[in-house]
Amino acid sequence: MTTTLGTASAGPGEIDTGRLEVGETRDGSPVGLPVAVVNGASSGNTLYMQAASDGDELNGVGVIQRVVPRLDPAEISGTILIVGIVNYHAFQVAEHRNPIDDTKMNRAYPGNETGTSSERIAAATFDAATRADLILDLHQGSTSQMLDEVRVRCGKRHRLHDQCLELAKAFGCGYVLDQKGPDGQLARTGPDEGVPTIDPELGGAVGWDEASIQKGVEGVFNVLRYYGFLEGEQSLEPQTRASGFEQYGAPAGGLVTLEKDLGDRVRPGETLFEVTTPFGESKAEVTADSSGIFWRARRLPQVATGEYVCSVGTDIGKY
Ligand SMILES: [Zn+2]
Repeated sequence: MTTTLGTASAGPGEIDTGRLEVGETRDGSPVGLPVAVVNGASSGNTLYMQAASDGDELNGVGVIQRVVPRLDPAEISGTILIVGIVNYHAFQVAEHRNPIDDTKMNRAYPGNETGTSSERIAAATFDAATRADLILDLHQGSTSQMLDEVRVRCGKRHRLHDQCLELAKAFGCGYVLDQKGPDGQLARTGPDEGVPTIDPELGGAVGWDEASIQKGVEGVFNVLRYYGFLEGEQSLEPQTRASGFEQYGAPAGGLVTLEKDLGDRVRPGETLFEVTTPFGESKAEVTADSSGIFWRARRLPQVATGEYVCSVGTDIGKY
Protein backbone atom coordinates (compact mmCIF):
# COMPACT_ATOMS: atom_id res chain seq x y z
CA MET A 1 0.00 0.00 0.00
CA THR A 2 1.28 3.46 -0.86
CA THR A 3 2.10 5.72 2.07
CA THR A 4 1.93 9.48 1.71
CA LEU A 5 3.16 12.40 3.79
CA GLY A 6 2.72 15.79 2.10
CA THR A 7 4.03 15.39 -1.44
CA ALA A 8 6.19 12.37 -0.51
CA SER A 9 4.62 9.11 -1.61
CA ALA A 10 6.21 5.66 -1.43
CA GLY A 11 4.94 2.17 -2.28
CA PRO A 12 6.24 -0.93 -0.46
CA GLY A 13 10.03 -1.13 -0.74
CA GLU A 14 10.30 2.53 -1.75
CA ILE A 15 11.52 5.76 -0.21
CA ASP A 16 10.43 9.25 -1.24
CA THR A 17 10.99 12.81 -0.07
CA GLY A 18 8.80 15.85 -0.51
CA ARG A 19 7.23 18.80 1.26
CA LEU A 20 4.45 19.14 3.78
CA GLU A 21 2.80 22.50 3.08
CA VAL A 22 1.81 24.59 6.09
CA GLY A 23 0.66 28.03 4.88
CA GLU A 24 2.79 30.69 3.22
CA THR A 25 5.70 32.97 4.07
CA ARG A 26 5.36 36.76 4.15
CA ASP A 27 6.09 37.01 0.41
CA GLY A 28 3.44 34.42 -0.39
CA SER A 29 5.81 31.51 -1.06
CA PRO A 30 4.60 28.15 0.21
CA VAL A 31 6.02 26.96 3.54
CA GLY A 32 6.94 23.35 2.86
CA LEU A 33 8.49 21.33 5.65
CA PRO A 34 10.97 18.76 4.22
CA VAL A 35 9.52 15.28 4.72
CA ALA A 36 10.49 11.70 3.91
CA VAL A 37 8.55 8.45 3.78
CA VAL A 38 10.33 5.12 4.05
CA ASN A 39 7.89 2.34 3.16
CA GLY A 40 9.35 -1.04 4.09
CA ALA A 41 9.03 -4.02 1.78
CA SER A 42 7.37 -5.94 4.64
CA SER A 43 4.56 -4.78 6.89
CA GLY A 44 5.14 -3.77 10.52
CA ASN A 45 4.99 -0.83 12.91
CA THR A 46 5.09 2.86 11.98
CA LEU A 47 7.74 5.17 13.44
CA TYR A 48 7.47 8.96 13.27
CA MET A 49 10.45 11.18 13.89
CA GLN A 50 11.02 14.90 13.63
CA ALA A 51 13.84 17.39 14.18
CA ALA A 52 14.34 21.13 14.71
CA SER A 53 11.10 21.72 16.59
CA ASP A 54 13.32 24.36 18.19
CA GLY A 55 14.94 26.20 15.28
CA ASP A 56 18.45 26.38 16.75
CA GLU A 57 18.58 22.65 17.62
CA LEU A 58 20.38 21.18 14.64
CA ASN A 59 21.78 17.90 16.04
CA GLY A 60 18.47 16.15 15.26
CA VAL A 61 18.69 17.34 11.65
CA GLY A 62 22.21 15.86 11.63
CA VAL A 63 20.82 12.55 12.90
CA ILE A 64 18.14 12.36 10.19
CA GLN A 65 20.63 13.38 7.52
CA ARG A 66 22.91 10.50 8.53
CA VAL A 67 20.17 7.89 9.17
CA VAL A 68 18.10 8.21 5.99
CA PRO A 69 20.88 7.35 3.47
CA ARG A 70 21.57 4.18 5.51
CA LEU A 71 17.96 2.95 5.32
CA ASP A 72 17.24 0.31 2.69
CA PRO A 73 13.43 -0.06 2.31
CA ALA A 74 13.98 -3.62 1.05
CA GLU A 75 15.28 -4.56 4.52
CA ILE A 76 12.63 -2.71 6.52
CA SER A 77 9.43 -4.06 8.03
CA GLY A 78 6.99 -1.21 8.60
CA THR A 79 6.99 2.47 7.78
CA ILE A 80 9.06 5.47 8.85
CA LEU A 81 7.57 8.98 8.57
CA ILE A 82 10.03 11.87 8.95
CA VAL A 83 9.74 15.64 9.20
CA GLY A 84 13.31 16.87 8.84
CA ILE A 85 12.76 20.49 9.92
CA VAL A 86 9.67 21.40 11.95
CA ASN A 87 10.21 24.99 13.01
CA TYR A 88 10.56 26.35 9.47
CA HIS A 89 10.70 30.07 10.28
CA ALA A 90 13.04 29.73 13.30
CA PHE A 91 15.39 27.48 11.32
CA GLN A 92 15.71 30.12 8.57
CA VAL A 93 17.10 32.63 11.06
CA ALA A 94 18.84 30.16 13.44
CA GLU A 95 16.64 31.05 16.38
CA HIS A 96 14.95 28.91 19.02
CA ARG A 97 11.42 30.28 18.71
CA ASN A 98 9.26 30.86 15.66
CA PRO A 99 9.84 34.58 14.87
CA ILE A 100 6.42 34.89 13.19
CA ASP A 101 4.57 34.52 16.50
CA ASP A 102 7.45 34.43 19.05
CA THR A 103 6.31 30.99 20.20
CA LYS A 104 8.19 27.90 21.31
CA MET A 105 6.93 25.09 19.07
CA ASN A 106 7.12 22.52 21.85
CA ARG A 107 4.45 24.39 23.82
CA ALA A 108 2.02 24.49 20.88
CA TYR A 109 1.05 20.80 20.53
CA PRO A 110 -1.41 19.41 19.55
CA GLY A 111 -1.78 22.64 17.56
CA ASN A 112 -4.66 24.17 15.67
CA GLU A 113 -4.96 24.06 11.89
CA THR A 114 -6.65 27.48 11.79
CA GLY A 115 -4.48 29.04 14.54
CA THR A 116 -1.18 30.89 14.73
CA SER A 117 1.86 30.00 12.62
CA SER A 118 3.26 27.68 15.31
CA GLU A 119 -0.14 26.12 16.03
CA ARG A 120 -0.61 25.33 12.33
CA ILE A 121 2.81 23.67 12.06
CA ALA A 122 2.15 21.78 15.30
CA ALA A 123 -1.22 20.59 13.97
CA ALA A 124 0.25 19.41 10.65
CA THR A 125 3.14 17.54 12.28
CA PHE A 126 0.90 16.16 15.07
CA ASP A 127 -1.38 14.77 12.38
CA ALA A 128 1.58 12.88 10.90
CA ALA A 129 2.97 11.85 14.30
CA THR A 130 -0.27 10.30 15.53
CA ARG A 131 -0.42 8.03 12.46
CA ALA A 132 2.54 6.23 14.04
CA ASP A 133 3.01 3.61 16.79
CA LEU A 134 6.10 5.36 18.17
CA ILE A 135 7.27 9.00 18.17
CA LEU A 136 10.82 10.39 18.42
CA ASP A 137 10.98 14.19 18.82
CA LEU A 138 14.69 14.99 18.41
CA HIS A 139 15.83 17.91 20.58
CA GLN A 140 18.94 19.09 22.39
CA GLY A 141 19.75 21.40 25.28
CA SER A 142 19.64 24.25 22.80
CA THR A 143 23.02 26.07 22.71
CA SER A 144 23.88 25.29 26.36
CA GLN A 145 26.12 22.38 27.41
CA MET A 146 24.12 19.26 28.24
CA LEU A 147 24.39 15.49 28.62
CA ASP A 148 23.02 13.25 25.90
CA GLU A 149 19.76 12.12 27.47
CA VAL A 150 16.20 11.10 26.68
CA ARG A 151 13.16 12.76 28.22
CA VAL A 152 9.97 10.97 29.19
CA ARG A 153 7.45 13.76 29.66
CA CYS A 154 4.06 12.07 30.10
CA GLY A 155 4.34 11.83 33.90
CA LYS A 156 4.47 8.79 36.14
CA ARG A 157 0.71 8.39 36.44
CA HIS A 158 0.11 8.29 32.69
CA ARG A 159 -1.16 4.99 31.32
CA LEU A 160 1.64 5.01 28.70
CA HIS A 161 4.43 5.80 31.19
CA ASP A 162 5.90 2.28 31.08
CA GLN A 163 5.81 2.20 27.28
CA CYS A 164 7.52 5.60 27.06
CA LEU A 165 10.19 4.43 29.52
CA GLU A 166 10.71 1.31 27.43
CA LEU A 167 11.13 3.40 24.28
CA ALA A 168 13.65 5.62 26.13
CA LYS A 169 15.55 2.53 27.24
CA ALA A 170 15.54 1.16 23.69
CA PHE A 171 16.96 4.46 22.38
CA GLY A 172 19.68 3.94 24.98
CA CYS A 173 21.51 7.24 25.49
CA GLY A 174 22.46 6.18 29.02
CA TYR A 175 20.57 8.97 30.83
CA VAL A 176 16.81 9.46 31.11
CA LEU A 177 14.96 12.42 32.60
CA ASP A 178 11.59 11.08 33.74
CA GLN A 179 9.55 14.11 34.73
CA LYS A 180 6.15 15.39 33.58
CA GLY A 181 6.69 18.20 31.08
CA PRO A 182 4.82 21.45 30.51
CA ASP A 183 1.57 21.62 28.54
CA GLY A 184 1.96 21.69 24.77
CA GLN A 185 4.89 19.31 24.46
CA LEU A 186 4.70 16.63 21.77
CA ALA A 187 6.11 14.18 24.35
CA ARG A 188 2.95 14.82 26.41
CA THR A 189 0.31 15.08 23.72
CA GLY A 190 1.60 12.03 21.82
CA PRO A 191 1.00 9.68 24.79
CA ASP A 192 -2.40 11.33 25.38
CA GLU A 193 -3.31 10.07 21.89
CA GLY A 194 -2.03 6.60 22.79
CA VAL A 195 1.38 6.84 21.06
CA PRO A 196 4.52 6.22 23.16
CA THR A 197 6.69 9.32 22.68
CA ILE A 198 10.19 10.33 23.77
CA ASP A 199 12.16 13.50 23.47
CA PRO A 200 15.82 12.59 22.95
CA GLU A 201 17.95 15.56 24.05
CA LEU A 202 21.16 15.20 22.08
CA GLY A 203 23.72 17.28 23.96
CA GLY A 204 23.81 21.00 23.42
CA ALA A 205 25.73 22.92 20.78
CA VAL A 206 25.94 25.91 18.52
CA GLY A 207 25.59 24.18 15.16
CA TRP A 208 26.45 20.48 15.01
CA ASP A 209 28.10 18.31 17.66
CA GLU A 210 29.24 15.12 15.93
CA ALA A 211 29.49 13.04 19.15
CA SER A 212 25.88 13.82 20.11
CA ILE A 213 24.71 13.26 16.52
CA GLN A 214 26.32 9.80 16.58
CA LYS A 215 24.52 9.00 19.86
CA GLY A 216 21.29 9.95 18.14
CA VAL A 217 22.04 7.85 15.05
CA GLU A 218 22.75 4.83 17.28
CA GLY A 219 19.57 5.56 19.23
CA VAL A 220 17.41 5.55 16.09
CA PHE A 221 18.93 2.26 14.88
CA ASN A 222 18.53 0.76 18.37
CA VAL A 223 14.83 1.64 18.21
CA LEU A 224 14.49 0.27 14.66
CA ARG A 225 15.96 -3.08 15.74
CA TYR A 226 14.17 -3.30 19.10
CA TYR A 227 10.73 -2.70 17.56
CA GLY A 228 11.31 -5.02 14.61
CA PHE A 229 11.75 -2.51 11.76
CA LEU A 230 15.18 -4.02 11.15
CA GLU A 231 16.45 -7.53 11.75
CA GLY A 232 18.89 -8.17 14.54
CA GLU A 233 18.81 -8.56 18.30
CA GLN A 234 18.67 -5.36 20.33
CA SER A 235 19.23 -5.82 24.03
CA LEU A 236 18.16 -3.20 26.57
CA GLU A 237 20.89 -1.62 28.69
CA PRO A 238 20.21 -0.18 32.16
CA GLN A 239 19.68 3.59 32.06
CA THR A 240 20.49 6.16 34.73
CA ARG A 241 17.22 7.89 35.51
CA ALA A 242 16.68 11.29 37.12
CA SER A 243 13.15 12.10 38.31
CA GLY A 244 13.89 15.61 39.55
CA PHE A 245 15.67 18.59 38.03
CA GLU A 246 17.04 21.46 40.11
CA GLN A 247 18.06 24.70 38.41
CA TYR A 248 20.60 27.11 39.87
CA GLY A 249 20.85 30.80 39.10
CA ALA A 250 23.55 33.36 39.81
CA PRO A 251 23.21 35.15 43.19
CA ALA A 252 25.33 38.03 41.83
CA GLY A 253 26.42 39.42 38.49
CA GLY A 254 29.86 38.57 37.10
CA LEU A 255 31.70 35.68 35.50
CA VAL A 256 30.90 32.05 36.23
CA THR A 257 33.47 29.31 36.74
CA LEU A 258 31.90 25.85 36.81
CA GLU A 259 33.38 23.47 39.38
CA LYS A 260 31.75 20.32 37.93
CA ASP A 261 31.77 18.59 34.57
CA LEU A 262 28.68 17.19 32.84
CA GLY A 263 27.93 13.73 34.26
CA ASP A 264 29.74 14.35 37.58
CA ARG A 265 28.10 13.10 40.75
CA VAL A 266 27.08 15.96 43.02
CA ARG A 267 26.60 15.84 46.82
CA PRO A 268 24.76 18.39 48.98
CA GLY A 269 27.07 21.23 50.00
CA GLU A 270 29.55 20.69 47.17
CA THR A 271 30.41 23.77 45.14
CA LEU A 272 28.76 23.90 41.71
CA PHE A 273 30.14 27.24 40.54
CA GLU A 274 31.76 30.48 41.61
CA VAL A 275 30.94 34.02 40.44
CA THR A 276 33.89 36.42 40.21
CA THR A 277 34.45 40.04 39.23
CA PRO A 278 36.37 40.96 36.07
CA PHE A 279 39.39 41.33 38.40
CA GLY A 280 39.16 37.78 39.75
CA GLU A 281 37.66 38.64 43.14
CA SER A 282 35.19 36.06 44.40
CA LYS A 283 31.62 37.33 44.76
CA ALA A 284 29.70 34.14 45.48
CA GLU A 285 30.02 30.37 45.61
CA VAL A 286 26.92 28.30 44.96
CA THR A 287 26.62 24.80 46.45
CA ALA A 288 24.30 21.92 45.64
CA ASP A 289 21.09 21.55 47.67
CA SER A 290 20.64 17.88 46.81
CA SER A 291 22.64 14.93 45.59
CA GLY A 292 22.42 14.14 41.91
CA ILE A 293 24.20 14.42 38.56
CA PHE A 294 25.57 17.62 37.00
CA TRP A 295 23.27 17.69 33.97
CA ARG A 296 23.31 20.99 32.12
CA ALA A 297 25.14 24.34 32.22
CA ARG A 298 25.21 27.66 30.42
CA ARG A 299 27.80 28.08 27.69
CA LEU A 300 28.79 31.72 28.17
CA PRO A 301 30.45 32.73 31.48
CA GLN A 302 28.94 36.18 31.95
CA VAL A 303 25.79 36.33 34.11
CA ALA A 304 23.45 38.91 35.62
CA THR A 305 21.91 38.39 39.05
CA GLY A 306 19.32 35.62 38.84
CA GLU A 307 20.43 34.40 35.44
CA TYR A 308 20.45 30.64 34.77
CA VAL A 309 23.76 28.87 35.40
CA CYS A 310 23.27 25.10 35.69
CA SER A 311 20.97 22.17 36.46
CA VAL A 312 21.38 19.05 38.57
CA GLY A 313 19.36 15.91 37.87
CA THR A 314 18.12 14.53 41.19
CA ASP A 315 16.32 11.44 42.57
CA ILE A 316 18.76 9.28 40.67
CA GLY A 317 18.16 5.59 40.08
CA LYS A 318 18.73 2.85 37.50
CA TYR A 319 16.08 1.04 35.54
ZN1 LIG B 1 14.27 21.64 22.10
